[in-house]
Amino acid sequence: MLKEYHADLHIHSCLSPCASLDLSPRKIIERALEERLDFIAVTDHNIARNIPAVMGQAEKRGFRVIPGMEVQSREEIHILTLFSDWPSLSAWAEVVWRHLPEIPNDPEFFGDQPVVDEEGNILEFEERLLINSTDLSLNEIRSQVRERGGIFIPAHFDKESLSLVSQLGFVPIDLEPDALEMGRKTQAALPKDSRDPTAAIPRILCSDAHQAEDIGRARSIFLLAEPTLAELRLALQGKEGRRVVTLVFPRPS
Ligand SMILES: [Zn+2]
Ligand SMILES: [Zn+2]
Repeated sequence: MLKEYHADLHIHSCLSPCASLDLSPRKIIERALEERLDFIAVTDHNIARNIPAVMGQAEKRGFRVIPGMEVQSREEIHILTLFSDWPSLSAWAEVVWRHLPEIPNDPEFFGDQPVVDEEGNILEFEERLLINSTDLSLNEIRSQVRERGGIFIPAHFDKESLSLVSQLGFVPIDLEPDALEMGRKTQAALPKDSRDPTAAIPRILCSDAHQAEDIGRARSIFLLAEPTLAELRLALQGKEGRRVVTLVFPRPS
């Protein structure tokens, strides 16, 4: 039976240098439950080392986390890449790592990059700067993600920086993304009519939370049979009754 699932598919953990250090796996799952989300994806910048701990913490509470990563392309465009399971994401993360420049992080300037366990205890600090462009092109990222069975979603595609629109000025139709993630403040980017060539591409909305209180502030509601990547893909394709029901924009703060 199909039902509505509330999802926030773009959340950072403490490993992202720009994210709050209190975004431990436990905190992320607690906040997701408080916000009555049904599933989430955690997507750090160019790395996936905190994902097993987040998935472990989620499993203890009977909650579902889609393993993901926000990859930065050569063109300085952010892409959400989501996978069905940890081995698939882990293999992709190894590829991304080989394409991320070996520039050390400056924690004073960018923030710390802690790899943590399920409770948030620090195991080590990642030393390579994570917020950098890989030398993978947008098209290479798309092909690799598709080959690995993942979902490819340009992040905050209409934002004024690090987005498709900021870097290219438009959405290349031949890119055929699985969806476009809207920026949180930009309802204006919803397609206005069917003459918009991007109108057929589904939109999703997420929080891009870098602090705990933002988790779930923006979300997408999907009609699914269960909270899995396969069901999410069907919803984005509008197949078998699955669909994106609505986008929930942030409450005024
Ligand atoms: Zn981003
Ligand atoms: Zn992000």
